[in-house]
Amino acid sequence: MGFFLDVVLPIPLERLFTYKVSEQEAYFLKAGMRVAVPFGKSKIYTALAFNIHQSGPEAYEAKEIYQILDETPLVNEFQLKHWQWIAQYYMCTLGEVLRSALPSAFLLESETLVLPNKEVEIDEMELKDDEFLIFEALQHQTSLKIGEISGIVDKKNVLPLVNRLVQKGVVLQKEELYEQYKPKLVRYVKLGKAHQSEEKLEELLQSLTRAPKQSQVVLSLFQLQAKSKKPIPVTDLEKESGSSRAVIKALIDKSILEEYHIQTDRVQYEVDVDKVVGITLNSYQQEAFESIKKSFELNKTALLHGVTSSGKTEVYIKLIENCLAQRKQALYLLPEIALTSQLINRLRQYFGNKVAIYHSKYSIHERVEVWNNVLTNADKAQIVIGARSSLFLPFSNLGLVVVDEEHESSFKQFDPAPRYHARDAAVVLAALHNAHCVLGSATPSIESMDNAKKGKYGYASIKYRFGDVLMPDISLVDIKEATRKKRMKGHFSETLFNAIAETLEEGEQIILFQNRRGFSPIIECTTCGHVAQCPNCDVSLTYHQHRNQLRCHYCGHHMALQLSCLACGSHTLDKKGFGTEQIQQELQQLFPDINVGRMDLDTTRGKYAYEKIITAFEQQEMDVLVGTQMVTKGLDFRNVSLVGIMNADSLLNFPDYRAHERSFQMLTQVAGRAGRTKKRGKVLIQTYNPYHQILQQVTTNNYDKMFEEQYYEREQFKYPPLVRIIKLTLKDRDYNKLNDASQWFASSLRNVLGQQILGPEYPPVARIRREYLKNILIKIPKGQSMAQTKNSIKRIEKSFNAISKYKSIRLVYNVDHI
Ligand code: ADP
Ligand code: ZN
Ligand code: ZN
Repeated sequence: MGFFLDVVLPIPLERLFTYKVSEQEAYFLKAGMRVAVPFGKSKIYTALAFNIHQSGPEAYEAKEIYQILDETPLVNEFQLKHWQWIAQYYMCTLGEVLRSALPSAFLLESETLVLPNKEVEIDEMELKDDEFLIFEALQHQTSLKIGEISGIVDKKNVLPLVNRLVQKGVVLQKEELYEQYKPKLVRYVKLGKAHQSEEKLEELLQSLTRAPKQSQVVLSLFQLQAKSKKPIPVTDLEKESGSSRAVIKALIDKSILEEYHIQTDRVQYEVDVDKVVGITLNSYQQEAFESIKKSFELNKTALLHGVTSSGKTEVYIKLIENCLAQRKQALYLLPEIALTSQLINRLRQYFGNKVAIYHSKYSIHERVEVWNNVLTNADKAQIVIGARSSLFLPFSNLGLVVVDEEHESSFKQFDPAPRYHARDAAVVLAALHNAHCVLGSATPSIESMDNAKKGKYGYASIKYRFGDVLMPDISLVDIKEATRKKRMKGHFSETLFNAIAETLEEGEQIILFQNRRGFSPIIECTTCGHVAQCPNCDVSLTYHQHRNQLRCHYCGHHMALQLSCLACGSHTLDKKGFGTEQIQQELQQLFPDINVGRMDLDTTRGKYAYEKIITAFEQQEMDVLVGTQMVTKGLDFRNVSLVGIMNADSLLNFPDYRAHERSFQMLTQVAGRAGRTKKRGKVLIQTYNPYHQILQQVTTNNYDKMFEEQYYEREQFKYPPLVRIIKLTLKDRDYNKLNDASQWFASSLRNVLGQQILGPEYPPVARIRREYLKNILIKIPKGQSMAQTKNSIKRIEKSFNAISKYKSIRLVYNVDHI
């Protein structure tokens, strides 16, 4: 007998672990508090308390916990329920959800590297190649275990590399992290108690006549206090009086001045609350707003289908207003961090200081701060704007979730687990809180539209752009013909070139979309046909001119560009294909006097990189913005009148059942950036295949036709939303073993589940980071229980794991993979 605590450990193990606690601890502990626990021989983990009971485990002797880390729960009941749903539905462990849900500052472990908290501007060119790789990996993951680094660079280089990075201030190591994790305190000063009145001040100044510097400080402080009722930071006093810190310290020592600290937010926003403005919806928006509110009486979730620039944001704002009026919190999800800065400015105009942002480019401490504000239901976090991870915040009182650009595939987390779809997890989260959910898009996903048509979701549409602005004029440019007639300048058809020249002449701006980053994706030897390949992955290396390197976009491998062919030695290397970097350069050569900016993964690594590019473009410091899919999404620029799509075919030819849907969405969205004010925007799509049905549907803005055709195809070939798909990927370095194992798994699945199994098959990139991959698709007809199917799969997995020769094989489940 005694008291026992079950905890969730932040590791991929299926079960909860049980620890011993004292009676006193048992009364104090609540689910959702963190505890430090011993694990294995020497590890300490931060774990989450789950439940307390009085019977110990039978299989092992429970160890005692080290320490309770919180006074009140950090995670609430809603979250625990939601995370359990995610773990169950997406086939991962609660520990994996915990790990990605909590800001890493809450889950300290030995030997973790994180980006530093302070704003360091790191010059990428200053970094050596291996340093750059780690820096880059940290931009994606925000924290890395030292062990994980050995997967990126050579093992024997790991420790010296880490030391160099810590020295250069690129990363922090864990010990320092404990030190750094403190609330931010700002130092203030005021006059000591004895000297606060005006008469006392006279006396004081007289007593200081022999110390002119000190008397100057006192005088300055008095002046500052007269000017503003706000507390005076020490730094302000230093500036005002022109004195050094030592002089101020002398006064503090004499108790003439008093120093005190106030805890301040790390995330500061400048908002002029006086400027809060109201909005008036136009009749189409008003109609959509009313119809969504009405639909909420029947369904918790509604789809808002409004063409680009129809003013969906304003409809969300009105819905949020309603939600706040009921004293509830609102969550606004965006698919891309790039969109948050524009949106926060817009929302702040209506809601002042009530809006917070949360996303992975925030430092771990900033995320802790937002977490705590949401947890305490603070005024400044009544509305949270964020990327998908903000679903994990400790809302206790959620009234509305908005999922903007709901069709975006970046809402689905690919790696690591939990591989959840933020849109679908948002619908579930809203239901747990008995809250409403609005999904919005100009090009809804086939899934959501299907749900709306079937009456599962409410539906409202806006068919016209706000303010009588016309839909853009979209035309196709046949590059095959343009090439034949020699009407190409580099990758620009004469038509596009002329349109650019005209637009520039009018003083208007241009967006150019190219689906690939880098300079050119293929370096081919024209003598022997050899193409530079990644040694670790089955892909060709992309040439990046800026670093004069060949780089793999899958594993980060890179090498200097060789002057001769690695296979035959001849110097006849040719660059084939083109990415954003090349387009930027070509355009700059064609129009030497203009400013060409670029927005892609390579130019947006720094924390404020997105903001800088977007602001520069908004303020017309750039004439043209070249970018990857980042420029296609929800951005609102006033002065853009031309959008050019360099090559639509690479989108259309993607080997995936969603390629057509996605091309339609991407092209319609990027076209939607053009002409958002009075003048009608122009869009030019370059293609080798102008008769493609999707391109026809894009030019005529015919979503309904696209939906009908795609739906029909999916019915014919049994793809979502008519079935659900679980993709199982098997990974191993041994090619034969992998083939053998995936055969075994697929036939076991067939035996149990019947004929709904496809594969095993190699994916288009069949080897990544020296591991071979093989996919098995499990199709689950509507009406068949997902839970039962998953149980069957898990049983097969158990037998599989019992086969010793398959021990090294890794299994990855991706439920509703996209
Ligand atoms: P969407 O998200 O549907 O593409 P936006 O919400 O970005 O469209 O609206 C397009 C433009 O029209 C924005 O610049 C926005 O400020 C403006 N706008 C939309 N609705 C209103 C309104 N009711 N009052 C004033 N401006 C509006
Ligand atoms: Zn690679
Ligand atoms: Zn060659």
